[in-house]
Amino acid sequence: MTERELSCEEVLEQLFTYLDGEIDAAGSADIDRHLERCRDCYTRAEFEKKLRLKTEQAGGFAPAPERLRARIRGLLDRY
Ligand SMILES: [Zn+2]
Repeated sequence: MTERELSCEEVLEQLFTYLDGEIDAAGSADIDRHLERCRDCYTRAEFEKKLRLKTEQAGGFAPAPERLRARIRGLLDRY
């Protein structure tokens, strides 16, 4: 099996799936590996994790997937 190198864009695209635990094991390992090397994506992932924790504690409110996608697009535009 060849190790796949993810770009930051790919990691951000899959970040929410990853955080939801809805990604397959191989995909999750790819992202883990990227996060170990990439400070920017690591910071982003930690931020989203904390944000999720907070919204869960605030009553289980989950933002609509469409809004998340729009946010990711916004993030990518900045890079
Ligand atoms: Zn990255």
